[in-house]
Amino acid sequence: MLNKFLGKFSKDLGIDLGTTSTLVYTPEKGIVINEPSVVAINMRTDEILAVGVEAKKMLGKTPGHIQAIKPMVDGVISDFEVTEKMLKYFIDKVHAEYFTLLPRPRVVIGIPLDITEVEKKAVEDAAKSAGAREVFLIEQSMAAAVGTRLSVTDPTATMIVDIGGGTTEIAVISLGGVVTWKTLRLAGNALDNDIIQYVREEFNILIGEQVAENIKIRIGSAAPLKEGLEMPLRGRDLINGLPKEIIISDHQVREAMSRIIRQIIENIKITLETTPPELAADIYEYGIILTGGGALLRNLDKEIAQATKIPVRVAEDPLTCVVRGTGILLANPELLNKIISPATAEY
Ligand code: ADP
Ligand code: MG
Repeated sequence: MLNKFLGKFSKDLGIDLGTTSTLVYTPEKGIVINEPSVVAINMRTDEILAVGVEAKKMLGKTPGHIQAIKPMVDGVISDFEVTEKMLKYFIDKVHAEYFTLLPRPRVVIGIPLDITEVEKKAVEDAAKSAGAREVFLIEQSMAAAVGTRLSVTDPTATMIVDIGGGTTEIAVISLGGVVTWKTLRLAGNALDNDIIQYVREEFNILIGEQVAENIKIRIGSAAPLKEGLEMPLRGRDLINGLPKEIIISDHQVREAMSRIIRQIIENIKITLETTPPELAADIYEYGIILTGGGALLRNLDKEIAQATKIPVRVAEDPLTCVVRGTGILLANPELLNKIISPATAEY
């Protein structure tokens, strides 16, 4: 009764607690937070100095007593306390925009497929102590599928490949559930690391993660481009320790990333092989949908289509699919109940 009353006035939230970014959705305003999952903390006083965009600027640049922490690793909470503080900061920020004191929100949060019960509980607890009244956990692949406006409860199978920062999740969805799936600890960050390694080996130049990510986003591709791209790259010469600038081309970046792209494709094939034939037939017909930031890599869709002989499409606005999915679920409790992650259902 009390819950019902509160429910009427509270501002419910959908959250994508990602390794790279955290996004928050409200039914009234859509996406209200989209910031890096980073928190800067003063280790002497335990005080939070910055969260999100401001904290990311500090990564790799902090003096000894300040630490910029990424509390999520490979899709799960690695630092509970910091994750809780980050969530609280974002939830408070959303609520501060409303005039009245609001009751605590109900929250729909996406979780990875290979999460353990303990890790699941940690997400739930973090959201609760950050201010959530009730927490609904949804598999991210399902949320992403809902976010792309797929009818996830149909008996027609779809494959969602979500390439984030830490993990790639390959999931076959049918009748409101995940039928077969595979998680790889190879995604955007691994691509960046392979670019760092390539630049070191080929040019004897040391670059940082952010420079590598920038190269990937600006000129990276999974298959040859119609028109070549190149960009200047500045780093530290490993021989004399001085700054050095070279020009790097799309061809070189592709070579650096090819090992991981091949592994992602290999695992898509393996997942298809373990999918029941009727469902695999649907996927061959209706195709694969790419979501997550990695889906934006140039020609990745073409490369996967070519290697698997399956049509591939990049979801509209792939970086926000999961959080938009949680938002759709907030507005559709019936669907939410059908696809909620089993062990945590509370009704
Ligand atoms: P997560 O779910 O882990 O928070 P996201 O779905 O937000 O991850 O994706 C983040 C990853 O996507 C990062 O590794 C980032 O470098 C990568 N990314 C973002 N934009 C692009 C782009 N245009 N091309 C290639 N990779 C991209
Ligand atoms: Mg994600």
